[in-house]
Formats: sequence, C-alpha cells, structure tokens
Amino acid sequence: MRARQDRVEMPKQDPDVRRNNFDEVALGYNMAQAAAEASRCLSCRNKPCVSGCPVSVDIPAFIALVKEGRIEEAAEKVKEKNSLPAICGRVCPQEDQCEARCVLAKSGKAVAIGALERFVADYLREKGDRPRQAEMTSGAKRNRPPHAAKVAVVGSGPAGLTAAADLALMGHEVTVFESLHAFGGVLRYGIPEFRLPKAILDHEIDYVRSLGVEFVPNVIVGKTITAEELRTQGYRAIFVGTGAGLPHFLNIPGESLVGVYSANEYLTRSNLMKAYRFPEYHTPMRSGDRVAVIGGGNVAMDAARTAVRLGAKEVFLVYRRSRAEMPARLEEVVNAEEEGVKFMLLTNPVRILGDENGAVRAIECVRMELGEPDSSGRRRPVPVQGSEHTLDVDTVIVAIGQGPNTLFTQSAPEVATDRRGYIIADCETGATSAEGLYAGGDIVTGAATVIAAMGAGRRAAAAIDQYLRSC
Ligand code: FAD
Ligand code: SF4
Ligand code: SF4
Repeated sequence: MRARQDRVEMPKQDPDVRRNNFDEVALGYNMAQAAAEASRCLSCRNKPCVSGCPVSVDIPAFIALVKEGRIEEAAEKVKEKNSLPAICGRVCPQEDQCEARCVLAKSGKAVAIGALERFVADYLREKGDRPRQAEMTSGAKRNRPPHAAKVAVVGSGPAGLTAAADLALMGHEVTVFESLHAFGGVLRYGIPEFRLPKAILDHEIDYVRSLGVEFVPNVIVGKTITAEELRTQGYRAIFVGTGAGLPHFLNIPGESLVGVYSANEYLTRSNLMKAYRFPEYHTPMRSGDRVAVIGGGNVAMDAARTAVRLGAKEVFLVYRRSRAEMPARLEEVVNAEEEGVKFMLLTNPVRILGDENGAVRAIECVRMELGEPDSSGRRRPVPVQGSEHTLDVDTVIVAIGQGPNTLFTQSAPEVATDRRGYIIADCETGATSAEGLYAGGDIVTGAATVIAAMGAGRRAAAAIDQYLRSC
C-alpha cells in the first residue's frame, strides 16, 4: 500500500524569488520528508536500482537505515561506494540511472534516491563528520603498505578527486596537480552555485585533503611540468583526469562578434571568478538584456539560468531538436522553464548578425523537423526550406558541447589518443599505452557525467594499487 503513496517532492525556492539570487534552488528534505520518502522503498531483494548506479551504491540498504532513523549509518553506507554523495545527490541524472531502474519507475513514481542520498550526506556534514576524517587521516598515514608509492593525479575534477581519495585510503602518497587556482573541475567552474553550492564542494575537497592528499594549484601538467619530469621527481604512477573543457563552436558567420560567449567562458567567469559580484570581484561580464543560449544539455540550462540571474530581461534557449531529446537533467529543464527561460525548440541558428559597432544584434535561425535517428539514436534534425527568421538578441552563449584539452597529451606522445584527442584507456582499469599512466573521466569518454567520472577514478585507483604491488 505504502508504495503507492506519492513521491515526496523536494521543496524549492519560489521561481520569482530565485530568479534574483544565486542561492541553491532545491532546499532538501527535512527528517519527516526523508522518512516518508524512504518508507516508499520496497527493499527489493534483487536490487534493480543498484544496477543503474555506475558505482553500485547499496540503495536498498541505505534507504532501510533511513527508515529506521539511523541516518549517520545510512550516510556511511552510501560512502562505502560513493565518496562524494552530497554532490551526486544533487547532480546525478538519477532519472536515467538508479531511479530509472527502480521498480516504481513504471508508475512514474520512482523512489527519490538522489534526494535521499543528498539528505543523508547533508545530515552527516551538518552534524560534523570531522572526527571520522581525522581518524582516517592518521590511519592512512600510519598504515602505509610496503608497496606504498608517490602517485600524481592530474586534474581535480570528480575523476581526479575520487582516484586521489581512494589511493590515499590505500596508503599511497598522493599529490593532485590542478591547472586552475581552485579545485573541483567542472564542479567548481561549470555547475553554478544555485545547483551545487561551493561550500558543499569545499567540504568534500577538505575531506580528500584530510586523507593526506596534497593539492597543488596553478600547475599545467604538460606545460609547467611534464609527465616525464613527474616521474623523475619520484612519482611511480600517474592518473590523468583532465576532463573535456575545450568548447565547441557553431562555425557560423558572426561568431566573433562582441557579445558571443562559449558557455564555458560564461560559466567560468560567473562561477570561478564571481563576475556576478562585480565590482567586489574584479571580473566584469556583460549580462545582456536579450540572451540566446544555443544547446539543450546541462551546460545550456546552467548558462540560461545564470543569464536570468544576471538580470537579462528575456532568455531564449535555442535547440535544434524537441524537448524530448534534450540531454539535460529533467529537473533542470523544469527549473529553467519555471524561471522564465523561453524554449525555442526545433530551431537552429545559421548566422549571428552584428550592428555597426561589431556587437551582436540578432541571430538568424531556421526551423527544423525530425528525420530518421542518427548514430546517437536520436532523430536527426533536418532544416525546413524557407523557414529563415531572425530573433533580436544582444548576447549569444554557445553550449553545444566540449572536447578534450590536449595540452597534456601533446607533451606525452607515449600516451595514445584517438583522432579527436581523447586518451585511449582500458575501460576497466584506465590503463593507457604508457606504463604506469592511467586515465579516466571525460578525457577518455568525452563529456559524460560526474558519477561516471568518479567510477572511472575509482577503478583506476584500484588498478594503480595493483600495478604498484607488482613492480
Ligand atoms: P573535469 O570536471 O573537467 O575536471 C578536469 C580538471 O582537470 C579541471 O579542473 C581542469 O582545470 C584540470 N586540467 C585540465 N588539464 C589539465 C592539465 N594539463 N594539468 C592540470 N590540470 C588540468 N554531469 C552530471 O552528472 N550532472 C550534471 O548536472 C552536470 N552538469 C554539468 C554542467 C556543466 C556546465 C558542465 C560543463 C558539465 C556538467 N556535467 C554534469 C558533466 C560533468 O561535470 C563532467 O562529466 C565531469 O565533471 C567530468 O569529470 P572529470 O574529472 O573527468 O573532468
Ligand atoms: Fe543514484 Fe548517483 Fe547515488 Fe548512484 S551515485 S545511487 S546514480 S544518485
Ligand atoms: Fe527501493 Fe526502488 Fe530499489 Fe526497489 S528498486 S529497492 S523500491 S529504490
């Protein structure tokens, strides 16, 4: 009977209020809401939901602990498999992963696994999980196994953070090298504060640091220092998690006009350099009155919703397929609509038009219709003849995907890459063509998800430990 109860939706800030602030939109469950939602779980013996989780969190077990009010133990249960639960609870595309496999999904009422994961992680953090961390730190330092070695991790995104944490827990001496001045990868410079507060990320990074991991900012491995030099400095294994942070462009006329941004630059200026607090912080950013964001993924939603908060009067999301094909998380699509972002679906820009000062004044678009499925399985958009029309805008943000930054691989020719520049690595171990050098996350798979990057970091850490035992 209980399973038929409605799913307990997480409370959110009112759209009219949140349009004007960068505070977190989703407010999280309270204890009663978490208990009510947990009570919907049927504790299925065959655990179908677990097969949808890339790191195999024992979902029925942690939810059973929530039902019993044993929240700290529930959080520890999640942490056995997922070292960043407060983050995954917020940003995992659950509707395509764990919740998609929940037996209650068929009735449209899957257990809110992500919201419960967030609840237990937040509970533990708010209660203060420092003693456990301190214990782990001293434990990790005391128990260095005979094969313990210096390991370098390149990049501090979810892949790097997970590999670093696991390797430290195995007793290795880990240093993370990050090219930016702050750590966290896309979790810091891409995903906005209103979806993932920086304080949560800081806490998770402090946790990794507490395990004894050293973090070194402002080092571009491949430029400041090479992989070869790291080896000379005594690093016996290297994990590369450099992500896919190089933006793709539309390659249409007008892309160099003033007021055209890549979403990567727009979000980095806003998130990392706090442009929204200019002049208190020194990075200015043109907010624009009428903004067109091109794309339909998480990055496009984040850019559009950031533009709303920066004061744009109208924000248009221009996407060449229909709403059903949008790759963004459903929750963020709904949030964007609630915040007033106007979706222009089945529409594709063909030209950006400028004014006499070289600034954007409009985009020319064509309407699209859906044809046969393409290699991604989604129906291919086809232009409708004679459907050209213009949309007056003063800012254009391009969010149509990213590719790999090849600074590292250019300096390490022994590491094999594919024709697009992604590192070729074993999907089980992360092993590359270079001995002792492992890779994982977006730099191997192309732009994917936080949890997939974490899973790759975890598998590579286990393989690196195995490698160090054998040499
Ligand atoms: P990254 O997070 O990209 O981290 C790579 C790090 O390596 C960066 O800090 C970079 O500065 C550093 N680096 C690069 N080159 C070097 C070098 N040569 N030397 C030293 N350091 C280097 N996924 C979800 O699951 N849910 C979401 O809601 C979601 N939203 C997203 C929103 C945005 C705006 C973006 C851009 C992505 C989003 N994603 C989301 C995708 C997800 O964030 C990525 O798949 C994930 O971060 C990949 O992790 P990673 O560790 O491989 O790389
Ligand atoms: Fe679901 Fe992500 Fe948690 Fe796995 S880590 S259980 S996919 S929310
Ligand atoms: Fe609970 Fe759904 Fe998993 Fe069954 S499939 S154990 S109901 S979360």
